[in-house]
Amino acid sequence: MTSPVIAVDGTAASGKGTLARRLATALNYAYLDTGLLYRATGFLTASLYPNSEKISEEIAIEAVKAITPETMENPALRDEKITQRASMVAAIPAVRTALIEQQRNFAKKPPGDVEGAILDGRDIGTVICPEADYKIFVDADVETRADRRVKELRERGVDAIHARVLQDMRERDTRDSSRSVAPLVPAEDAFILDTTTMDADAVFATALEFISKRNESKA
Ligand code: C5P
Repeated sequence: MTSPVIAVDGTAASGKGTLARRLATALNYAYLDTGLLYRATGFLTASLYPNSEKISEEIAIEAVKAITPETMENPALRDEKITQRASMVAAIPAVRTALIEQQRNFAKKPPGDVEGAILDGRDIGTVICPEADYKIFVDADVETRADRRVKELRERGVDAIHARVLQDMRERDTRDSSRSVAPLVPAEDAFILDTTTMDADAVFATALEFISKRNESKA
């Protein structure tokens, strides 16, 4: 029997990463931040081809193949420029296909002595693991998400301009939701968690309640 899988999808700065990490620790699940795969791809297209303005499918696939565990840990993956690049490579169908197997393998055989797997991203409940045992879709008002991102950037010492962050976030939302493959949409059977007026503790408690109610209905 395969171990349980939790799919956490949602918009940028909605709180899905924080939620997924907390659930992973509390439940002893292995955690995969799938955004890092797209960020690493975007980062490598820039470092392998610094003079190329357009990201072709060929360059992007070469970048996917060059991803190493070290790339995934590079703090530069969080830079705003790479963030935008990640959502550009994420709209290339061949890139998404090339990254499917790695994500599904993680869900099927999570590393370590764990009880299950939790993956966060945009298409986990719809494309990567449509059979996931629990699906949570996290969202919040775009202004609130921009406030959160500005706070986070300033805490990291980045001189963030609110209007710019908000504009970038809107652009990314549009690109992620309107692409032809695996657009950002909640799975039909996902639990929708709107975090606009919630703090991280409330989000975590609400998600845990959903999981235990789901377990009761399955028992
Ligand atoms: O989650 P994060 O903000 O790190 O993701 C960066 C970008 O990677 C997203 O804006 C999205 O374009 C892409 N992404 C995706 N599918 C995923 C995870 C991330 O398309 N499963």
